[in-house]
Amino acid sequence: MPSQTPPAPSEDSTWVTPPRRGAERVTGAGPAIITAERILTGRRGDAAGTLEVLADPVHGVGVLLDGPRITAVGPLPELQDQAGAALERLERLDLPGATLMPGLIETHAHLATSGTDIEYPEYGVHEVARLTLNAVRAIRELASVGITSVQSLGARHYVDVALRDAIDDGSLRGPRLRASGPQITTTGGHSWHAGAEVDGLDDIRRAVRDHHKRGVDTVKFMATGGFTTAASLPWNAQFTAEEMALIVAETHRLGHLSAAHAHGTQGIERAVDAGIDYLAHASFISASGRTEFDPALADRIAEAGIYVDCTITADVPGMIERNPDFAPPARQLWERGVRIVAGHDTGIPQVAHRSYVAGLQALEEVGLPRAEVILAATSRAAAAIGLAGITGALAPGYEADIIAVASDPTEGLGALHTLRAVIMRGREFVPDPVQGLPRIDDPDPAADPAIVLAAHRDSIRRINEHPNV
Ligand SMILES: [Zn+2]
Repeated sequence: MPSQTPPAPSEDSTWVTPPRRGAERVTGAGPAIITAERILTGRRGDAAGTLEVLADPVHGVGVLLDGPRITAVGPLPELQDQAGAALERLERLDLPGATLMPGLIETHAHLATSGTDIEYPEYGVHEVARLTLNAVRAIRELASVGITSVQSLGARHYVDVALRDAIDDGSLRGPRLRASGPQITTTGGHSWHAGAEVDGLDDIRRAVRDHHKRGVDTVKFMATGGFTTAASLPWNAQFTAEEMALIVAETHRLGHLSAAHAHGTQGIERAVDAGIDYLAHASFISASGRTEFDPALADRIAEAGIYVDCTITADVPGMIERNPDFAPPARQLWERGVRIVAGHDTGIPQVAHRSYVAGLQALEEVGLPRAEVILAATSRAAAAIGLAGITGALAPGYEADIIAVASDPTEGLGALHTLRAVIMRGREFVPDPVQGLPRIDDPDPAADPAIVLAAHRDSIRRINEHPNV
């Protein structure tokens, strides 16, 4: 008898333990069905102020997937009909009592920092590698709380671009990323430590083109100073109207979205004049150190369809209570028809990536109706970051970015804290929570609007008390 030839070596045989898929209940490899008690599609309902909810008390509802894509959403009998012969080989995940909804979207993250460390850690010669590793940690943290898409609005060394590509090619698991690379700012301006410093029109052209060359999706610039950079004044614009117009025009010419950090009214107005797509903060802080909402400017923002994140982090409602002078006007903007999205600046000091859901609750607390908060975190957020029709809703043709939560978020956003499944591009992500780093008890005073504004108002008071010197 001829001796048996051993099997030819395969790629797998070079591993001591052949790699297997992990504990995923939905692997993204083929057809799958996920069932639950109700589905929030991430879209508006027919009645004003409501969300589209699918439920079938008799048969239940579900989502049918084919690999990374959603093929059907609705009552189970319909899905079973549609699955037909594939029904036998479906992966099946039943989550009785749960709500299925689109994965959450953070439209304003800083991935290279942790939110609990100092904002610009000194890593010396290891800076690029350490910031990259921080960003890997950040995407794990974000995915573990149910965030399946993220817009990065500022990352040194373009670590967000590299990370986006590594996620897309399967090297790493994480939310779908939209990357901005470093923020464009003025020399010594807001976030200059992390940004690309420019002065004048030629510098601006060069910076926007360089960002394009390095693969960004969004060009972010600092239209005003900010609270976290000492001596950059949030109520003053940093760029002239002509400079902002050039940043936005050059960004659009290259096919990218533009985003501006803007606190003060002057900077907001110039960014709107320039044709900006996305505004971060919009706190309308004035030179007197108070939020002075400008309804006419809000109307222009609404009319232009600009997306706005008011950066309502978990701490903001308490901060407004202590110091009502600084009150980002999320409610007033929304009332005038502005498209508010859930961007929380996660990663900056005191804003951990995992605090995103607490930020959604804060957005409700400052006056945004709950249904609007859910839209702001799903379909509208997707549109704001250039992913309309790709993610942010549960509907046929969309990519399968889905979370399941234990109860009904329309009864209370706290439901979003109890995840039962996170599915990114059709494949389950098994939450891998990172251990929380301790918060800093004695934060950098320059990072606290209340302290910055108190110092500013004190200087105004002194000038007023001594007018004739
Ligand atoms: Zn930011």
